[in-house]
Amino acid sequence: MIRTPVPPGATIGFLGGGQLGRMTAMAARTLGYDVRVLDPEHDCPARHVANHTITAKWADADAARELATGCAAVTLEIEQIPRPSLEAAASQAPLCPPIDAVYVIQERARQKEWLAANDFPLGAFRTVRHSTTTADAVAALGPSIVKSAMGGYDGRGQVRVRTPDEGRAAFESLGAPVCVVEAFLDIQTELSVLVARRADGEAVAYPTSRNVHTAGVLTWAVTPSGADEELEQRAQALALGIADKLGVVGLLATEMFVLTDGTLLVNELAPRPHNTFHHSERAHPTSQFEQLVRAICHLPLGSVEVVRPAAIHNLLGDIWTHGAPDFTRALAIPGVRVHLYGKKEARPGRKMGHLSADGDTPEQALDRVLAAYRAITP
Ligand code: ADP
Ligand code: MG
Repeated sequence: MIRTPVPPGATIGFLGGGQLGRMTAMAARTLGYDVRVLDPEHDCPARHVANHTITAKWADADAARELATGCAAVTLEIEQIPRPSLEAAASQAPLCPPIDAVYVIQERARQKEWLAANDFPLGAFRTVRHSTTTADAVAALGPSIVKSAMGGYDGRGQVRVRTPDEGRAAFESLGAPVCVVEAFLDIQTELSVLVARRADGEAVAYPTSRNVHTAGVLTWAVTPSGADEELEQRAQALALGIADKLGVVGLLATEMFVLTDGTLLVNELAPRPHNTFHHSERAHPTSQFEQLVRAICHLPLGSVEVVRPAAIHNLLGDIWTHGAPDFTRALAIPGVRVHLYGKKEARPGRKMGHLSADGDTPEQALDRVLAAYRAITP
């Protein structure tokens, strides 16, 4: 791992050229780094920002090695990359976060068992490998969510169940070899904390972001979250503790649930920039994208204080059904910005971009971004 600053002019490699890779690449280019990207899609969003793009499958370890050769550091925007490809990249340049951290996170059952073994607070869950044990788990846990251990994101690969029979059917319909059955929790608020950490252990936690999901996909997020000081400190300490224990270099996002009785639990982890911190470009002196570059290049970590309340609202492909939305309606609202990822094809559920807004208060930032979203929705 890098323990001296990597000067601008060096090359950074990205496993993944989606929107997260694109926005990080923009920050890296602003800082004067060259950017190399690997993505399975030829026209990936980061292509137009990168100096060089390799088109190859995640399982192509030779391509991952080629990406990393000559890079000062390699980072990633997606955790579900096969281990041999991660190893091939790491053989040529420091991989941030390191393989072991990514490996723990990339499979839901492994991640939850690691969190439980290290005494981090989780809701009740069971790892299952068979429809019968899934039914048993639902009988024990009550209403639950069956989640496939690999490949799920944005609420995909999940089925909500109430009875053991529904659990059995859910396991069969998911068709995954390993699933996690999670007790359905009585959630008051969803918070997330983003930690940036360098190889020497220096770390910062962004203040909590408050998030609202619809059908498992993030709808909007706002900072400051409104958590009281005690909860804020608890959430940040929890996230810093996990990042430290995992030895993360780069970013770690920790999604959390606050239950109606005030209990704070970990939902899941992501070793990369996170959708719930897209407003870090507006709310903090240092965006999550710039912070990732700083962390992996062993530069001083930037300030994460809230200089201005800010919110984002996701733009999914669903609102493209009658053609591209009229973004002038959103831009007419004070404080609103439009962020589009350059994806050619709009599909339902596909993240095409987001709206951001600032405000004097988090309520005003949220009101503005919600108004902007309504203004462009058919
Ligand atoms: P993904 O990997 O797709 O983000 P998550 O496990 O984070 O999947 O679940 C997506 C969303 O579904 C969460 O943000 C939350 O809104 C809801 N959810 C997930 N697990 C539970 C649970 N055990 N109880 C209640 N709601 C849940
Ligand atoms: Mg999630």
